[in-house]
Amino acid sequence: MKIPFLDLKAGYLELQPEIDAAIKRVLESGWYILGEEVDSFEREYATYCEARYCVGVANGLDALHLALLAMGVGAGDEVIVPSNTYIATWLAVSQCGATPVPVEPDAATYNIDPARIEAAITPRTKVILPVHLYGQPADMDPILAIARKHGLKVLEDGAQAHGARYKGKRIGAHGDVVAWSFYPGKNLGAYGDGGAITTNDTGIAERICVLRNYGSRVKYVNDVRGFNSRLDPIHAAALRVKLKALDAWNARRSEIASCYQIGLAHTGLTLPFVPEWAEPAWHLYVVQHQQRDILQTQLGEVGIGTLIHYPIPPHLQQAYAAACLIQGQFPIAEKIANQCLSLPIGPHLDKFGVSTVIAACRKMV
Ligand SMILES: *Cc1c(COP(=O)(O)O)cnc(C)c1O
Repeated sequence: MKIPFLDLKAGYLELQPEIDAAIKRVLESGWYILGEEVDSFEREYATYCEARYCVGVANGLDALHLALLAMGVGAGDEVIVPSNTYIATWLAVSQCGATPVPVEPDAATYNIDPARIEAAITPRTKVILPVHLYGQPADMDPILAIARKHGLKVLEDGAQAHGARYKGKRIGAHGDVVAWSFYPGKNLGAYGDGGAITTNDTGIAERICVLRNYGSRVKYVNDVRGFNSRLDPIHAAALRVKLKALDAWNARRSEIASCYQIGLAHTGLTLPFVPEWAEPAWHLYVVQHQQRDILQTQLGEVGIGTLIHYPIPPHLQQAYAAACLIQGQFPIAEKIANQCLSLPIGPHLDKFGVSTVIAACRKMV
């Protein structure tokens, strides 16, 4: 018996006739860069996210990078980021020549702690960059209040939060911009790399449209030094099919999460905490345990796939050695990195799989 961490192929097979038809439509159209299919996906995803604009780009890292550039972030600026996130959040800041300034999360929600943000603001701060980590919405209202008070912009990393809601409203335009990834394993995933930004800000949407396409508004006329970072029509066509399934698939994730919350209560595991204003997308179901590595090995031995998101926090990565951030400087992020374990929660994990995971965990902790 094997329970994979995530069964991407089962997701394809469920939608196979529609996905195949959508991709064939692009192949037969003779049009393979931007165009109708990308426009349609952008319209549909903007509507889904309750935002005015969506601009498709090549991946989630580019979405963050181009969003920061469009917000005017450059050399010498500072951007406030969570100390516990996927490294892409930090890399996008560094790619602008700016400095990521880490702020610790709330230990219960894993999201950036609004109470710690003001202490990190300096005259160089331009943007606050919360991440809706594991699909749990960050506490946006206090973050937006701090940003307004200090004249800062807010970029949200929504790479794990497709479909999540904060106080009833979808993640999509609470802040100035949201950056999205359509990496295959995300809740809304393509069959390759893809990304987008959503925003209500006309100027930012226009600037990102130009930046993603060689800095050009009119073919062969280049206003700025842009990039080649476009969402491919083949991916846009597949994403349009998958967008229609997103709410149903997220509902399955949410059901699995409810089973885990009940089935794993009163064990040695620390379970996710969901504030009453949050409707998570349950991208990941992350528990904590002091003997995490042993637990992961034991679950692996009985065929249960788990992952660690993430084993090394960005400040301890070799890539950030030059930033001179040291071990012990961000103890909450370090504790999460040492103790967190992601259990399977994909939309194609069946009831039997869920009860198998629960029974195995209960036996071990
Ligand atoms: C996946 C992810 C990204 C990067 O997305 P890519 O499409 O892989 O570049 C950025 N931030 C977070 C939080 C992510 O999970």
